[in-house]
Amino acid sequence: MTIDIAAERRFWAPTLETQSRAEWRALQLDLLKRHLAHAEAGSPYYRAAFRAAGVSAESVRSLDDLRRFPFLDKRTLRERQQAVPLLGDIAAVPESEVVYVSASSGSTGVPTLSPFTAQDFDDWMDYEARQFWSSGLRPTDRYCHSLNFSLFVGGPCVLGAQKLGALSIHAGTVPSERLLTILRQFQATAIWTTPSYAWYLGETARKEGIDPARDLAVKRIFVAGEPGGSIPETRARIESLWGASVYDYYGLSDIFGSCAGMCEEKNGLHWAEDHILTEVLDPVTHEPVREGERGELVLTTLKKRARPLIRFRTGDIVSFTTEPCRCGRTSQRLLGVHGRLDDMLIIRGVNLFPSDVEALVRQDEDFTGEYRLVVTRDHHLDSLTVEAERREGCAVPVEDLAARLTRRLKAVTGVGARVEILAAGALPRATHKAKRVEDRRDTVWA
Ligand SMILES: [Zn+2]
Repeated sequence: MTIDIAAERRFWAPTLETQSRAEWRALQLDLLKRHLAHAEAGSPYYRAAFRAAGVSAESVRSLDDLRRFPFLDKRTLRERQQAVPLLGDIAAVPESEVVYVSASSGSTGVPTLSPFTAQDFDDWMDYEARQFWSSGLRPTDRYCHSLNFSLFVGGPCVLGAQKLGALSIHAGTVPSERLLTILRQFQATAIWTTPSYAWYLGETARKEGIDPARDLAVKRIFVAGEPGGSIPETRARIESLWGASVYDYYGLSDIFGSCAGMCEEKNGLHWAEDHILTEVLDPVTHEPVREGERGELVLTTLKKRARPLIRFRTGDIVSFTTEPCRCGRTSQRLLGVHGRLDDMLIIRGVNLFPSDVEALVRQDEDFTGEYRLVVTRDHHLDSLTVEAERREGCAVPVEDLAARLTRRLKAVTGVGARVEILAAGALPRATHKAKRVEDRRDTVWA
């Protein structure tokens, strides 16, 4: 009975999710004022940083006033944490109020810790449940979670599925063969993974004689961690391999396991606007870009009490829209993470992201979909080589394939690249995040 009623419910939080844009802005301003005041009162770092910038929480009258506040970046998070162990002086509550920490997989050594109070944790799980609900997960589903709790911010998201009422299978990180056995035994209907791993797992299944679309019950795949889930060609390939629907999620180790996700319309990712305020800024001038244009995502938490993040530079290049979504939700939608500021290649003056190349390689059936970009510098000029694998059994001559991809790359990205066609299986397969760029330039400037 309860399940039937729940299955008919369209929204997890109907009033919030369908409010007008003006109501969203008013809610954000109200939350922002209180959150800035909390940061100022509880965190010695923010108190000093706000004073140095000549700003204060009580001077905020509009959302635009936030632009007067100083930026925060990953390096500062790390430095303050090391200066004041354990949690750093950006934290705004005493450690006794902290009940959970996750750690980011920092590529530069010391991981940064992200603390949660009990309320923060509850808010987070409620949000994850809301997001899973928007992607069609229901209490009748069996959700298999193959991430673990060991400090990884994606781990606890399984509790969001549990809160929603789905049967949640905590598989943990297990070898692919074992995971396939679990999926088959439990007839799991939903999983969460990276796009690369979804592809790898599906291919592994086939090698083992399992047809994911026929022998498994997976109908929904939530993906995060790489841009692939928002590239229609990549999504379509995973969907046809699995006979399932793929939903892209965007998470940030310093805030939530996922901060945005696709609804069933799959037209952008609905953003957690009651938890996180966004700015999209030109990476060079730091001025806001127009809606729909690409820029660096800068985030301000609105509720997370343990460690507020005020104007945190993510380094992710994104774009957003506030156009109404057919699902009826009114939150702004992330149109895609086009790449990392760090991954942005500038090839002879043209900005290029690996995801641009991915779309081209994946929409062509004569390729396997695996690719790599190699950047070299010859005679002071950068040059790009795109390596792509020819699908087994493809009858098109190598030279013709290379010429075709070269032409399309030039037409779509404006970059002239050398294309090298490899045999199927020649490139290393990723089990987690795929390394798509090999930069062989001695020095890189941007
Ligand atoms: Zn929607």
